[in-house]
Amino acid sequence: MRKLEADVLIIGSGPGGAMTAAVLAEAGKHVMIIEEGDHVPVGATEPYSLEDMALKWRNGGLTPAFGPVKVTYVEGKCVGGASEINAALYHPPVPSVLDAWAAEYGIDDFGGAPLAEHIRAVEHEASVSPFPGSPGIASERLAAGAASLGWKSVPVQRFWKYDAQNPLGRRQSMTETYLPRAKAAGAVLQDGLKVKKLLFQGRRAVGAIATDREGQRVDLRAGKVVVCAGAVQTALILQRSGYGHRVGQTLTMNPMIRVAAEFGDRINEPVIGVPVQQIEAFKPSMTLGCSNGSLAHLALWLVGAPGDRERLLAEWWRLGVFYAKVMAKARGVVRNVPLFDEAFVSYKLGKDDLALLGLAAERLATVLLASGARSIVSPVPGAPAIRSLSDIPALRAGVEAGKAQVTAIHLHSTVPMGSEQKHCPADSYGKLRGLENVWVNDASLLPDTPGINPQGTILAIARRNAQHMLG
Ligand SMILES: Cc1cc2nc3c(=O)[nH]c(=O)nc-3n(C[C@H](O)[C@H](O)[C@H](O)COP(=O)(O)OP(=O)(O)OC[C@H]3O[C@@H](n4cnc5c(N)ncnc54)[C@H](O)[C@@H]3O)c2cc1C
Repeated sequence: MRKLEADVLIIGSGPGGAMTAAVLAEAGKHVMIIEEGDHVPVGATEPYSLEDMALKWRNGGLTPAFGPVKVTYVEGKCVGGASEINAALYHPPVPSVLDAWAAEYGIDDFGGAPLAEHIRAVEHEASVSPFPGSPGIASERLAAGAASLGWKSVPVQRFWKYDAQNPLGRRQSMTETYLPRAKAAGAVLQDGLKVKKLLFQGRRAVGAIATDREGQRVDLRAGKVVVCAGAVQTALILQRSGYGHRVGQTLTMNPMIRVAAEFGDRINEPVIGVPVQQIEAFKPSMTLGCSNGSLAHLALWLVGAPGDRERLLAEWWRLGVFYAKVMAKARGVVRNVPLFDEAFVSYKLGKDDLALLGLAAERLATVLLASGARSIVSPVPGAPAIRSLSDIPALRAGVEAGKAQVTAIHLHSTVPMGSEQKHCPADSYGKLRGLENVWVNDASLLPDTPGINPQGTILAIARRNAQHMLG
């Protein structure tokens, strides 16, 4: 049996794991990062293509959460985690949201002001930059439509680096930023190893058991363990390891509906990637924006229009994908089902959440028509396309009735942090209660949904906590 050993074992190489590894390795710790997925360098696959989804997305794309309203969610499974597949849009954490978490969950030395230095560091280290020049046709159309309704919209910054040889720039995901830094400081990264559970002696973890791509067991030994496998998988690993403490009971998501909209002329420019315009007017409870328009992605959002799919795809350059995302109150549950490899996730959108999603759908359709869309494929499968303002009430009613395709790409809060012991399995710095040497340092720690694109918040919190671990 293969054995690997280090001072610190970090499980997962997404934003939480990569930041933790860089901070600890640069402080001289012998760090081992274990990643279930493969290493697929930036640029090796076409973003949002079938190949990309097969290689870097868990389950090749969407995973269902169970509940009365169908919600499917997306997780990355590759070196760098979801930072390799996401839109790379950056939104600074909202100080009032951080302050509210500090008060409600009793998070020590936390809030807008204490996190500010970490936010600045992340913006600098991960090259947060505005899109240079025109943000592209889809962004411009959405901005014009929003302006005609008096709604403020902005081109959002990205984790992206531009230089003279590369005017379109390059995504600054974890494989381009914190993972190379961690490796340069001596960290070892093993991909293709899936951690099954942690091993304990009393209140101390001594390591973990993993399996390789061939299903062979690999023993991992370490003095400290940091679990950074993403909100769902972190909860699953801890439950499989016999750790209770309400882990996995409070999953939050930002449910969204996406629609394909048909314009009279070109709207889809593959070279732009995900268009960066977002409507600010209703943030943080509701965000409207542009999504990726690759053929594979377009096909997903044309499910509701089976009769029209071929005609629409034949002129894909006239199609754009747009979304409306809300801050839901619902809390999901992650469960370990014995003998089953995947997590069982249940999630029930409440009446208020569906009403908010219905309003978001109404606003999205309104702004798309104002932007010049000729027709919008309804997110309610089988429902007629939206061609005029008079079609919108039926769309809203369908979404409110829970009939729309709902997805989620932002998952958090399965191991909330704070001194409020009843609801927080982790302390104010991510250390698990009742254990001497196990931390969580990823999206699981966010006690609630931040409402915005969360990667910047996750990175800033992970940097703060990793520095505290050293102390
Ligand atoms: C399609 C999509 C688009 C998004 N767009 C944006 C955006 O534009 N801006 C933004 O801010 N955020 C965006 N997000 C969200 C953001 O990417 C995530 O919030 C962030 O990546 C979460 O970081 P994490 O470290 O918690 O987990 P993850 O990124 O999920 O990383 C966890 C890693 O752990 C690995 N792992 C899991 N289980 C095991 C195991 N048992 N053993 C070993 N390794 C394991 C996984 O393979 C994965 O690589 C998007 C997400 C998705 C899916």
